[in-house]
This record gives sequence, structure tokens and C-alpha cells, in this order.
Amino acid sequence: MDTGNNNTRSKEIRTIISQVLSGHRLTEDEAVLLLQSRNRDMMEVLAAADQVREEKVGDRVTYVRNYNINITNYCVNSCGFCGFSRKEHDDDLYYYPFETIEAKVKKALKHDITEICSVSGLHPDFNAQSYLDIITHIHHAAPSVHIHASNPMEVAYGAGKSGIPTIEMLSLMKEAGLGTLCGTAAEILVDEVRKIICPQKVDTQTWERIIREAHRLGIRSTATIMFGHIESVRDRARHLEVIRNIQDDTKGFTEFVPLSYIHYNSPLYLNGIARAGATGSEDLLMTAVSRLYLDNFDNIQASWVKTGTKMAQISLIAGANDLSGTMYEESISKTAGAMNTDYLDPKEMKRICEDIGRTLYQRTTLYEIVKKE
Ligand code: SF4
Repeated sequence: MDTGNNNTRSKEIRTIISQVLSGHRLTEDEAVLLLQSRNRDMMEVLAAADQVREEKVGDRVTYVRNYNINITNYCVNSCGFCGFSRKEHDDDLYYYPFETIEAKVKKALKHDITEICSVSGLHPDFNAQSYLDIITHIHHAAPSVHIHASNPMEVAYGAGKSGIPTIEMLSLMKEAGLGTLCGTAAEILVDEVRKIICPQKVDTQTWERIIREAHRLGIRSTATIMFGHIESVRDRARHLEVIRNIQDDTKGFTEFVPLSYIHYNSPLYLNGIARAGATGSEDLLMTAVSRLYLDNFDNIQASWVKTGTKMAQISLIAGANDLSGTMYEESISKTAGAMNTDYLDPKEMKRICEDIGRTLYQRTTLYEIVKKE
């Protein structure tokens, strides 16, 4: 072990932490250093993120009552990290007709949900109208429920198939009842990484353009990062920079969601290209450094679907303030190999919050408080 180098690094990390706690904006180089911190240095990074979280949003932990409807797993793309998509001859290929969507919405309403979340495979027959029809059906079946749906990839796909500009598609989606856009399909916003993990997906510039168009139209969105596959810590820092710049300009993101890569059933892992996901300390550092880097975000989410509830709880003392949703019928992470993704009872959320001295509140998609649990 090189103690001299370690001491220098520890000193550097302490200096950065003290500067960031006094209001300094992290640079990408500094984020790289923090993301590489280990042992007690890492604990200091987590503690700093927890302090910033407390100063920014207090002791409140939030969650949303939501229900997922993934209309189809038929997808023309073959992203290397995806265990969800299926092709024409696969036995478990599915597509929900409108009657099934309506039945699912009715079922969702029985759970007192306030949000329906819908992202799907890129069905070969879909065009802009298909996405509009889905939104319209959900909206008619549940007019008071917030529709959080599609992502920049789906917008680009639908618009491309119909030969219309993406901003026009977004505007039509809003008219049909879209509340907010999912900030997924971001993965890592570095094209060299995207070319390996999702070569058919929109590139960084297109993802950013569509998000900015949505925000310009008053359609807010989430922001995500999917990490723990082939990317470097520098790529993670670059991604945070892209997200922070957009938020500076638009203020349209509602939250940032670190999504830990689920490797088990994904081609990238099965073919030996990606590693077996992030470790526990990487999960915590990603949350903490996101909190410290994204000084223009209030909400950093702990995704229990990706990491499990025990790690989600610890993320709440490492910078996170939100526990995502109840997630009835989650299937994207489940098919990638994640366990227990279907539903998290708010009673369990309350238990893990109270255990660390925090209070759980139900929120809407836009972070308005519904009630204290
Ligand atoms: S991640 Fe989305 S676009 Fe990529 S293969 Fe899976 S379903 Fe299709």
C-alpha cells in the first residue's frame, strides 16, 4: 500500500469536501476523485452528502404511489444491458391491447395511486400516433392520475416513424395528457459508452435536445444515470456535468435517479463485456456524489428496485431523500434479474425511515406533499 499517496488523496478529498460545504461547485475532476474515495474517505463523502441533503430538504423522505404499465416488450433495439426486450419469435413476447391497458388502469386506481408510469419496447409497428393513443387511453380511464411516460428514445422513435419533429410529438403528447417525461434512456451520456452498450439508441446530443424541448414545452422530466457496467468514473462525472448544465438552463428536472445496473440476464454481462454491476460502495458513492455535484437539484432518489430496500435505506443517509414509488407491476428490472421489484409497501418504507430518524411523506410526481405517513 502506498501510504504517502493515500494521505495526499485523503487530504485532497477533505479539502474538496470542505469547499463544497461552503458552496463551491464541484468540477468533473473533483467528482472523479470523490467517486474513487475508499474507506474513511468514502464515509466523509457520504456524510457531506447527508449534510447537504439535510440543509436542502430537511428530514423528509418522500415516495409516490405509482403503477407501471409496460405496454409491450417487443423492441426493434437490442441494448446490451436490457433483459426486458423480446423479438418476434420469442415465446414471452407480449403486447397489451387497449382493453388490457384500461383493465390495468382500473386495477391501479384501486390502489389509490396518483401516477401511472409507462415505458415500453420500441414496437416495430409503433409510430407517433401509437404513443398518443396509449396516453389518451390511460388519460380517459384515469383523468385525475398523472401520466409519467415515454423517454427521449421513444419520442425520437415515434416522431421518426411518423416523419414529424420531436418537439411536435412532445406537444401532441402533452395535449393527449402526458404529465411528465421519463428521463430514462440516458444510461451514460457519453457517446463512446453508448456505442457499446446501446448503439441503436439516441446519442447524447439527441437525448439532451429532446429533454430540453420537453422542458421548453413545460413538460418536466426526471433525470437518470445507469451505472456499473463498462463506464469509467470519469464517464459518470461527465454525465453529471451534462445533467447539471441542462438543469441550470431549464430547471425542468424534478429529480435525479441513480440506477444501478442489473447484470444477471443482460447480454453485456453474459457475453463478458460488462462487469457484474456496481458494488455497494459504488452505489452509495454514486448517490452521494450526485447530491454534491447536482447543487441545482432538490431531489435525489434511492431506487429500491435496483439495490434492494436495505441499500436504499443506507442511501437515505448518503444524500438521497426520496424512495421512488410503490411500483405495482414493475417488469423491466425484474426481467433483467432484479429481485422483489413488484411492490414496496409504504409501511415498510415508513419502518426503514423511522429507523434512521426520518419521516416519510407521500408525494405527487411533482413533489407536492399528499400526506405524512
Ligand atoms: S432498453 Fe429499451 S430500447 Fe433498449 S432494447 Fe430494452 S426495451 Fe428496447
